[in-house]
Formats: sequence, C-alpha cells, structure tokens
Amino acid sequence: MDEAIVGIDLGTTNSEVAFIINGNAEILKDNDNGILPSCVGVNNEGKIIVGAEARNQAVIAPERTVLSVKRLMGTDRKIRMGDADYLPQEISAFILKELKLRAEKVLGKAVSKAVITVPAYFTDAQRHATREAGQIAGLNVVRIINEPTAAALAYESTRSETQRILIYDLGGGTFDVSIVKIEQGVVEVLSSTGDNHLGGDDFDKKIADMLAEHCEKELKISVSDKPVIMARLKRAAENAKMALSAEPYAKIEEDHIGKRTWKDVHLSYEFSRVAFEKMIEDDLERTMDSVNKALKDASLLPSAIDKIILVGGSTRIPRISEMLEEKFGQLPHSEIDPDLCVALGAAIQAGREMGCDSTSILLDITPYTFGTSAIGELDGLPCMTRFVPLIRRNTKLPASRTEAFYTLYENQEMVEIKVCQGENPDALDNIRIGKYKFSLTPKSPEGSVILLNFDLDLNGILKIEATEKSSGRKINAVIENAFSGFTEQEMSVSKRRIDEMWGDRGGFEGDEEVSEDNDTADTEGMPPDLAEIIEKAELQLKSAPAEDRDEMINLIEDIRDAVKEGMLEEAGELKKELEDILYYLG
Ligand code: AMP
Repeated sequence: MDEAIVGIDLGTTNSEVAFIINGNAEILKDNDNGILPSCVGVNNEGKIIVGAEARNQAVIAPERTVLSVKRLMGTDRKIRMGDADYLPQEISAFILKELKLRAEKVLGKAVSKAVITVPAYFTDAQRHATREAGQIAGLNVVRIINEPTAAALAYESTRSETQRILIYDLGGGTFDVSIVKIEQGVVEVLSSTGDNHLGGDDFDKKIADMLAEHCEKELKISVSDKPVIMARLKRAAENAKMALSAEPYAKIEEDHIGKRTWKDVHLSYEFSRVAFEKMIEDDLERTMDSVNKALKDASLLPSAIDKIILVGGSTRIPRISEMLEEKFGQLPHSEIDPDLCVALGAAIQAGREMGCDSTSILLDITPYTFGTSAIGELDGLPCMTRFVPLIRRNTKLPASRTEAFYTLYENQEMVEIKVCQGENPDALDNIRIGKYKFSLTPKSPEGSVILLNFDLDLNGILKIEATEKSSGRKINAVIENAFSGFTEQEMSVSKRRIDEMWGDRGGFEGDEEVSEDNDTADTEGMPPDLAEIIEKAELQLKSAPAEDRDEMINLIEDIRDAVKEGMLEEAGELKKELEDILYYLG
C-alpha cells in the first residue's frame, strides 16, 4: 500500500479524519477525541485558527470566526472573516488542511488523497464545492461518497447476509434519511431523501431565540442587537440541549448578560426536556415525513427494514429513538459513535480505493432528477419551459442518457441548453444549474436534431454534451461553470492565498501536485501549438466577459478531450475557434 488515502467526514459542526490501520478503520486523534469542530477563525495576531480554538473565540469575536460553513457550500456567497472575504470552499479548505496535517502527524507520511463524504441530498454544486475545497487544501479528492453509504459501510462492511438498513442522519445542519441494501460488502442505495437545512443548529437557534425573548420581556434588557451576547446565548442553548439528552431538566446560567439601571443582570432559566421536545416537534415530524418518503421510494414497508442506524450528533435526542421505535417496532442502533461512524465508513471506502478490499463495490444513486427545459405541454396547455428529465431521481450511478431535441425554425442560429435539477414539471420551478449556448451550422432546416447527453459520474458530478447530429459538432460542459466555480487560474490563486495564510505548520507539503483528473488536466504531453493556445486562453479567462468565458472553457475542454482521444485534426479545428475568440478579445 504505497499512497495513503484518508477518509474524511467534513461535517457542519464537527469533522473527522480516519484511516485503515492494521485492517481496521480508526479515527486519527491529535491529543483529543478525534473530533475537530468545523470552525475557522483569525486570532488576535491575524493567524488562522481551526477547531476548538476557533469555536471558543466565536463567542468573543464572532466577526473573526466562521461556523457551519457547510451550509453555504455550493453558493458563491462571500464570507467575511476578520478583514478579508472568503468563499465557502476556502473556509472549508482550512478545515481540510487541519485534518490533513493531523493525518500526516499521526501516520508520519504525506497525505495528498482523500475520500470525502457529503450528505446524500447535496446538490451538484455543493459536491463540486467540496471537491474544490479539497483541491485548495492540497488534497486530491479521489471519491465523494454519501454520508449514509459511509455509515452503512461502518456497520455492515463485513457481514455476508443481505440487510436492508435505514440510516437516519441528523447532524448540526443537515438531515438525511437513506435506505441501503448491503450484501457481502456491496452497498446499494435504494432511496435517499432529506433536508439540506435542518439540524441541531436550528434547535439551538430556537432555544437562543426563546432565551433572548425571556431577556427582553422578563429581564428588560435588549440582547438581540448584540452579536456577542447572542453568540453566548447560542452556546448556552446548545449546552442545555445536549444536557437534555441525558437529563429531564437543564439549568441555563449566564452571568453579566446586560445592565439595567447600572446594575449587572444575570440570566438563570430552567428548561425542561418536555418543553424542548414540544419546541422541535414540527421539525421531528418533518424528518418522519422524509422517512415515509424514503420507504415509498424504495417500495418497502417498515417491516422490511432489518436495521436502523443513527448517525449525527443530534440523534442523541431521546425522542428520535422513540419515534423510530414507534414506527418500526425495533430499537435503532447507535453502538458505533454517531459522530464518528461516517468518517470510519469513509476510511473503509478509502481502504478499498487503496486496494485493501478489491472484491467490494459501492453502488450509489442520484437523489435528484436532472433534465432540461423545452417547449411542451403542461396540464393540457402549451408551456415554454416544460421540464424534460434525462436522469431521474434514484437512478444508479454512474448514469448516462441521451435525448434528441429539434430546432424550431429554418435558419435557426443557436439553441440555448438549460440544465435543471428538481422534480417539478415546470423547469422554472426547479433549480437552474447551467445554461449553455450552442451555435448551429448556418442554414439549418427546421427540425434539425440536437442530441443532448447527460453523464452523471459516481461522485454525482454532471457532464453535458450537445451534438449537432448533421455535422457531428459538439459542445461539452462540466456543470461547475454553472455556479461560478473556480477556473484553473482562480484555483491556483486561491490555493496560494490559503497556503500563505496557513503558514508553515509542519506536515508534508507538496509531495504530489494535486490535480483533478478529468476537467483540469494540464497541458503536459500536448502538441506545443495546442498547449500554447490553452495557456494563453487560461490567462485571459478571468478578464473575459462571462459569455466568452463559458465558450472558452468549453473549447479548452474540447481540445483536451480531442487530444486525449487522438483526434488531432478536430483539436486543430477547435484551436482555430479559440484563436478567433482570443483575437476578438484582443
Ligand atoms: P454533527 O453535524 O453530526 O457533528 O452533529 C452535531 C450536532 O449534534 C450539533 O448540533 C450538536 O449540538 C448536536 N449534539 C451533539 N451531542 C448532542 C446531544 N447529546 N444531544 C443533542 N444534540 C447533540
């Protein structure tokens, strides 16, 4: 086994890294319990801090600390931390760097590859952002796997009999429920659903809001406009919530939370488990609706479930086990620590990637339908934005499907290809994840055929190819452009910036150049004229107008693909197109 591949659970609240040691998955610890709070901050001296140190400063310096960044993954929201702005990928990269460093310390060698888990319900954009975070951190993400799949592996990877397992995963920020079939180490996800915005953080916020109301109404001090006090209340709320998992009552005591007529005011509040359960009843009901949906999608009755596994810190809330027991007539399992189970499963998968267990395969499904928008009918009426699914929800991955579409009129100059994700019949109600323009051959007749292919890989990353049938001309796109993901150049700028901020903290840097094996290959081994034009184009990407930029990225990709497949003549043609754009851009 030459190169270490670690398994990482990059959680909303906590993150862990694990590795196969002497045939067993183990959490890698650094004088702690192996749980790294997913918090990043800048300390007084302007140094980046990660983990418990950052979480502790969140109360006194919220403006210099970032929590729960996982919730923003896949968006291009700028996050202010200290006096600089960061993208969610960059903040996550600091967490991954800390985990990488920890792994290198424990294993005593360079670690540049990882399997990272994501909620099964993560969108394409969120998966991409996770991959990019890995790259910025100096980790080649060899595989992204769904968290419930990892949990099932942790419990069942060695059992031989067929088991149908329901995984109920409620963490800090997300809820997932999946049903998997596991048979001799092969995991097949039968259904998966959930909520990207439901978790322990929401419960903390509800308790903190209740405390704030108590402060304002009963204690007559204003707190909601004071971020530091609100951060303290949130922390107190979380502690109370956790205490209530073991005790029927929790006492919330916070000294000096304000002044009234020059006198210090202290908060002292008794909160009961019954009151807490009532407060979150609707949220827990919502999770049970998802459980029913998962059963329906898998066409299974509750009695067909052999085992229920609890994952995520919030499943320690006793009411959750009760509700599941009422529904399934069996007690859920939580013997593998719900906080560590996913990282352990990721390590098992990483072990498989290293060749430790070559007989096992991992089957996964897409939790979303991907399709495009076309003119059609909806409820008997013409609809300009009818959603046409290409890859349906719960299809086994990898999946590829091609559909034919037709031009509307003679001499049509271009078609616009919209890529959407969702389940609604009107594409406008689904999430639009990409839009591409395809110029047609001049003087095309009406009804010319455009073949549209969607290819969804094992990591849930979508590649799109449109082909004009008559000429065979193609455009390709990888969906990362759709949410303004990083260009190669932006990636190296970001990586350099994050590396500089990180400074020298030991570990083994730079043993291997991290590269995405498909869409960001370099120009090595290319004919020099093609390499030169690609490098030139990449330098201009950042300043190019958005539309030209997309076209340039597509052409660069196409040239690379053509070279890979030995189609040098076609690559030459594409080079001319790229040259035209560069000439026009000056
Ligand atoms: P995870 O995202 O899986 O790391 O889960 C973190 C969430 O679990 C946070 O919201 C924690 O507050 C919550 N949590 C951890 N321990 C407990 C507990 N004993 N009772 C209730 N919630 C908990």
